[in-house]
Amino acid sequence: MDRKIPETASEAGQEVEAWDNQRGLRHPTRQQAMACLRSLLAFIGENPDREGLLETPDRVLRAWEEYFGGYDADADATLQTTFEEVDGYDDMILLKDVDFVSHCEHHMIPIYGKVHIAYVPRNRVVGISKLARVVDIFAQRLQTQESLTAQIANTIDEVLSPIGLAVLVEASHQCMVTRGIQKTHAMTVTTAFLGSFKENEKLEQRFLRMVSA
Ligand SMILES: [Zn+2]
Repeated sequence: MDRKIPETASEAGQEVEAWDNQRGLRHPTRQQAMACLRSLLAFIGENPDREGLLETPDRVLRAWEEYFGGYDADADATLQTTFEEVDGYDDMILLKDVDFVSHCEHHMIPIYGKVHIAYVPRNRVVGISKLARVVDIFAQRLQTQESLTAQIANTIDEVLSPIGLAVLVEASHQCMVTRGIQKTHAMTVTTAFLGSFKENEKLEQRFLRMVSA
């Protein structure tokens, strides 16, 4: 059986490169991406044709489709379904300990940690699972922790326009743990405070206490 992965789009048959108009980017075919991965295997001194590695480019791409599925998802649309009936509830709503896995845009190495989100609703609230979904959509892209924090906060702020919003991200960057300075236990914390959380220090302090409790 010939298991050689095609090197070019024409070799791969009908599959052709596509142009992504929305982002103005050229999308290589899956076959082209697999050819690149074969080159990377050879680059590190491997033989991409040895049995154990034959399926590796395909497996890596499947893993990447999972890790980077956030590019094709619409975070704004996720938050469109809201509820008005809250019986006058006007305090913060806190979603704690939302686990995430992302990848740093500098090394493409995992960043993982937790996101905590609190908002004071302005009439409308959103399903808690939708907030967790927004975290996943932005985490499943190449990121910096600063951008991840800002994107989560800005999207929730724009779509729900809450009275106040707080986002805290605490994460371990595996590029710091496994290479370079090798700091195993270093955690990076980033925050975004908007509206009443920014203006009212007591509210901000309450959020921080509830998150660390
Ligand atoms: Zn990195």
